[in-house]
Amino acid sequence: MLATEHKLDLDYARELDGQDELKAYRDRFHMPLQENAEPYIYLCGNSLGLQPKSTKDALEQELQDWKHLGVEGHFHAKNPWLPYHEFLTKAMAKVVGAKSEEVVVMNTLTVNLHLMMISFYRPNGKRNKIIIEADAFPSDKYAAESQIRMQGLDPKDCLVELKAREGEVLLRHEDIKQTIDDLGDELALIMLGNTNYYTGQYFDIHKITAWGHAVGAYVGFDCAHGAGNYPLQLHDSGCDFAVWCNYKYLNSGPGGLGGAFVHERHHHNKDMIRLAGWWGHNKETRFKMRDAFDPIPSVEAWQLSNPPIMAMAAVWASLKIFDEVGMPALRKKAIALTGYMEFLVKSLGDDVINIITPSDPNQRGSQLSIQVKNANKALFDKITESGVIADWREPDVIRVSAVPLYNSFEDAFLFYTILKEELS
Ligand SMILES: *Cc1c(COP(=O)(O)O)cnc(C)c1O
Repeated sequence: MLATEHKLDLDYARELDGQDELKAYRDRFHMPLQENAEPYIYLCGNSLGLQPKSTKDALEQELQDWKHLGVEGHFHAKNPWLPYHEFLTKAMAKVVGAKSEEVVVMNTLTVNLHLMMISFYRPNGKRNKIIIEADAFPSDKYAAESQIRMQGLDPKDCLVELKAREGEVLLRHEDIKQTIDDLGDELALIMLGNTNYYTGQYFDIHKITAWGHAVGAYVGFDCAHGAGNYPLQLHDSGCDFAVWCNYKYLNSGPGGLGGAFVHERHHHNKDMIRLAGWWGHNKETRFKMRDAFDPIPSVEAWQLSNPPIMAMAAVWASLKIFDEVGMPALRKKAIALTGYMEFLVKSLGDDVINIITPSDPNQRGSQLSIQVKNANKALFDKITESGVIADWREPDVIRVSAVPLYNSFEDAFLFYTILKEELS
């Protein structure tokens, strides 16, 4: 639908909700409530996704099995714990566009990033540089810096930060390519967020992977803001690895387990340097406990410990919903909903707001980063008091994400109304 066809009234928003094929899914989630018992307008699914109503039963099942079976639950639980992580793999792989052998749910995001960098940041002579975004999420930057130091090198020499041009906020792909080409055989690794947490800008993982590989570098992506949001095609992109968390768009609960992808081309390399643990060892001989480490020929070789079943049950409950809906349907609604939200916010006028997220749907997911002229946190606090949960980034940016699984067009309209009122 063209933006110009949209109308600025509530009935129209409700009309769009009436046509929404996914509208029933909102009721599958718990909406946080305000003091007056009205639901909040929750636009923070890019930070912490809402709780599926099915999560409680999923956790309860494992508590019951533990209660009644003790250690026997590894074999006899309704969902036996021994192979438990395998139950999640297919649905997880579908969300990120990968083969099942390439995807595992384990650990948390920053931990997985370290595990991957230990394998894929192997500086050798002058090939010792890592490219990251200048405004990367702090954890990613700390991880990269510490990996460089672990190799006896200095982040000042080895970390190359991609900066937007003077007077611009978004990175240009041509500049990314130029940086890669300029570094050439000094480049060891490219490690970018695939959707920037601050601007909401999506980076083309296919192109960046091809450019990195052309100069002999490894390429990995942090998909924290992409997984469950943007239709990633990790396998087809050819990237070497990816990591993500499952608690943002993937609704698996605070601090929930993360995910990791390693491209199949690395699965049979037994000499790969990695941190190893028993859960990465050949399943046939894992319990003999005597054999030398024999890595599973899949991403599972990077697993260390037997997994936390409670946390995994929450990821599984959420993945079942994603599996039912599918990324194409989610993406279709996301494009419509984000486009509508953009139309509403833009109508407030260029003199008041500036959306820094790209306006091209192919270069963004669900998030809009709204820069408010002459704003301060007081404005944001007022919006919160009026019933909106969004996210504030100093000095003047409100980040909102209308998530296709549980947000409505009416949510977008009500947010716009409140923002408009507080601005005037
Ligand atoms: C959310 C987020 C993180 C958080 O890392 P955790 O290890 O899950 O605490 C890291 N990096 C990016 C890009 C994120 O968006």
